[in-house]
Amino acid sequence: MLNERMVGLGTQRSVIRELFEFGKKRAAEVGAENVFDFSIGNPSVPAPDQVNETAIRLIREMDPVILHGYTSAQGDAGARKMIADSIKKRFDFEVNADNLYITVGAAAGLCCCLNGLCNPGDEVIVFAPYFPEYKVFIEGAGACMKLIPADVEAFQIDFQALEDAIGPKTKAVIVNSPNNPSGCVYSEETIKKLADLLSAKSAKYGEPIFIIADEPYREIAFDGTFVPYIPKYYDNTLVCYSWSKSLSLPGERLGYIMVSDRVTDHELVYAACAGAGRSLGYVNAPGLFQRVCANCADLTADISIYETNRNLLVNGLRDLGYHVVEPGGTFYMFPRTLIEDDIAFCEKAKDFNLLIVPGTGFGCPGHTRISYCVPTEVAKRSLKAFADLADFYKK
Ligand code: PLP
Repeated sequence: MLNERMVGLGTQRSVIRELFEFGKKRAAEVGAENVFDFSIGNPSVPAPDQVNETAIRLIREMDPVILHGYTSAQGDAGARKMIADSIKKRFDFEVNADNLYITVGAAAGLCCCLNGLCNPGDEVIVFAPYFPEYKVFIEGAGACMKLIPADVEAFQIDFQALEDAIGPKTKAVIVNSPNNPSGCVYSEETIKKLADLLSAKSAKYGEPIFIIADEPYREIAFDGTFVPYIPKYYDNTLVCYSWSKSLSLPGERLGYIMVSDRVTDHELVYAACAGAGRSLGYVNAPGLFQRVCANCADLTADISIYETNRNLLVNGLRDLGYHVVEPGGTFYMFPRTLIEDDIAFCEKAKDFNLLIVPGTGFGCPGHTRISYCVPTEVAKRSLKAFADLADFYKK
């Protein structure tokens, strides 16, 4: 008898994967230039030149036995020191190498935190719209996901719903800002309010309620939008960072967990995350790229194309009558669908060679996610397809 849950996860169809396959089929029929694939969040700008240059330099200069050898389970001490220095400098926040655990992307970081923090039956709060893998990760840690309905006017936080949802079993709240799929950035006011509420509730229940700050999009913010560094506002914050998006390196699988000295019993919490890493086999992230990312920790890929695409699509879609909350960052936007049934809407969009993802999978029906990490020329030409789709519903 196999583990039924795992069989289910391994065989469940992914809407995004299916759209991707459909796009390939359609491209063969009508030409790739006529298919507008906004399905996948794969960065479309190259990593900065310094990334490859650093990799080449390290390969040339370092002793290969060390470069390709095991590092400590939590990551190379020199790499962790460089990352800590970068955090200190950029966010004016006290952190050292021992606060960091280098992981295989934010996905592994989230799993380490959730497994390290949660006991069976604990609850983890998530705000809609949310990255669907959270449910898989939370349930994999033996905990339950509690979903807070979306604030669809601004994609900030519905505080009344949050207050009602927190109880004695609440172990953590996942905060993802800038957000996948809405693209919205939580304001400083939102973060302060969240910190105050969680402090009060932690005191009430006599146990810390942690924030798990999932931050793969931290550096992808536009017009100088301020992205508050959450550990400065709330002590019991664990940061899960990733270079997948900020350095356009999703295939290299590099990120880290940061457990600062401000966290209650921080040494035990760090040990719990490291223990979870050990139990899951998430030890020793790839050695070459630990060092490459550490050397490039102050850099960001050129995100100007995302901002150009955002402006073009927000303005273009609004002109066509779509309702869009302007994203402050990422390369996603989350407009309302023109009919209530977002699944039917996205299915119809395929007739116009538009590949967009229903909001239902993100816990927010009546919306659709557009991943605009595409060439600007594709975004521009797609407006005709969005216009045809709108015309179809006007008829
Ligand atoms: N969290 C969010 C919100 C994401 O969008 C993603 C990837 O798309 C991840 C986590 C996982 O990122 P990583 O590639 O670092 O594992």
